[in-house]
Amino acid sequence: MKNWAGNLDYSAAGVERPASVEEISELVAAAERVKPLGTRHCFNDIADTSGTQIVLDGLGGAPELDSARGIVRVPGGISYGELARFLESNGFGLHNMASLPHISVAGAVQTGTHGSGVGNRGLAAAVKAVELVRASGEVQRLAEADGEEFLGSVVGLGALGIVTSLELAVEPTYQVRQQVFESLDWERALAEFDDVVSAGYSVSLFTDYYGDTIGQVWRKVRVDAGEGPAPSEFFGAQAATRPRHPLPEMSAENCTEQLDVPGPWLDRLPHFRHEFTPSNGDELQTEYLLPREHAAAALERMRALSPKLTPLLFVSEIRTIAADDFWLSPSYRQDSVALHLTWKPRQPEVEALLPEIEENLAPFGARPHWGKLFAAGAADLAPLYPRFEDFRALAGKHDPAGKFRNAYLERVLFGG
Ligand SMILES: Cc1cc2nc3c(=O)[nH]c(=O)nc-3n(C[C@H](O)[C@H](O)[C@H](O)COP(=O)(O)OP(=O)(O)OC[C@H]3O[C@@H](n4cnc5c(N)ncnc54)[C@H](O)[C@@H]3O)c2cc1C
Repeated sequence: MKNWAGNLDYSAAGVERPASVEEISELVAAAERVKPLGTRHCFNDIADTSGTQIVLDGLGGAPELDSARGIVRVPGGISYGELARFLESNGFGLHNMASLPHISVAGAVQTGTHGSGVGNRGLAAAVKAVELVRASGEVQRLAEADGEEFLGSVVGLGALGIVTSLELAVEPTYQVRQQVFESLDWERALAEFDDVVSAGYSVSLFTDYYGDTIGQVWRKVRVDAGEGPAPSEFFGAQAATRPRHPLPEMSAENCTEQLDVPGPWLDRLPHFRHEFTPSNGDELQTEYLLPREHAAAALERMRALSPKLTPLLFVSEIRTIAADDFWLSPSYRQDSVALHLTWKPRQPEVEALLPEIEENLAPFGARPHWGKLFAAGAADLAPLYPRFEDFRALAGKHDPAGKFRNAYLERVLFGG
């Protein structure tokens, strides 16, 4: 079995698709090495194991909505796309989505996945409670009231147990309009960075770092914010007159509707439509999150790297994320900017460049996205996360024999 990008063959000795939590408990209790696997959208070996991979798509169970409390309880195998449709049909919504709805909720939350918006925390911020099967096979529910242990467990890199269900905060459904603007002047974007990224519910900048302008700005506004129609100009960038794909040469057919047409949150917040099944194996991804106050300086460094970066890039997306309190969240306690790189599938060249990018971003305390390609190891990452040691202790407490450990965790968590 390969991951979504096709750049990794999982080395698992076997794959199990349990149909109940009891079955998961039995499998985990009996296993020597085991790993939960979501929808396989990570670009590195985070979900790999030499033992058994446990896929939750057979777990079944429908989401359960408690509209009075504003909570939905979802089974561990559900994807954001499925959940979003269920919520919308019941008049509810989520605060944010990633660029792609096909990813599993449990896998996305475990890796600190995020969308964009200065006021929007990562997707994990919606989690109110989580149910895990621990290494012993015991089932444990952790809720916000459990304090620190909850905050340590929500973004858990698959190291703490198998998430069998999550309870997420929901809000009444809302409408969003999205407009793409083209050719934003780099100097202006850097000088007025906070204003640019704050001018909407979710703002993303798409660039390849080459030249004097940023190719596209994707701006999403909530209709309930009461703004008038989208302006024809955005910080000097011009409103696109036809739908756009982040890669200018690609058809926008697979992208969510643009041109300021209102639509439900689930059909505007992701960039790509749920009904479109993305092809495999044609891109790689890397992403670094760092304090937003350093955005302009960090982007200057990236522009200076353009002669090396640009030839390997399809495109880079610049987003913002509000701070949260999850110990291993890449936006832990810092309002962040995320520099995302969608690479051409040239992994050896990309991997050769990553140390240089990381060296350039190190002065800003850049934290890599756990699910994408990066070079840093545990010794580099530990100083970036104030609760790193606490997380290691938590993993040791709940998995003393290292059942959930794999080469990735040895490298980025326990090594060095
Ligand atoms: C096209 C594309 C677009 C993307 N867009 C974004 C984006 O907009 N923003 C962003 O931040 N990231 C983005 N990502 C990255 C993606 O969100 C993460 O890689 C996420 O982890 C994918 O979830 P998954 O279920 O596929 O994870 P997998 O790769 O299957 O697993 C990831 C980790 O989660 C663990 N895990 C999975 N299920 C469970 C479970 N039930 N219990 C415990 N642990 C579990 C695994 O063990 C592993 O450690 C994108 C990736 C792709 C391919």
